[in-house]
Amino acid sequence: MCDTLVKYLETAFIQAKFLVDNCPCKYGCSSCTTIHRCPDDNKALFKSVGLSLLEEITNFTQTRTINQ
Ligand SMILES: [Zn+2]
Repeated sequence: MCDTLVKYLETAFIQAKFLVDNCPCKYGCSSCTTIHRCPDDNKALFKSVGLSLLEEITNFTQTRTINQ
């Protein structure tokens, strides 16, 4: 992957984590976790799991950036 795309993805994940982490909802809502075109009508929302994944991804990308 080109460096520019990786930078945009890192920024997108960091912003997504900030958005979900600071949303006052408890289980996920249209402001943080839902997708308007979801074929399952957003019935499988797990805010805590999504936040954990975003934390792992952002930790990984920050560690990778530091180690370069
Ligand atoms: Zn929310």
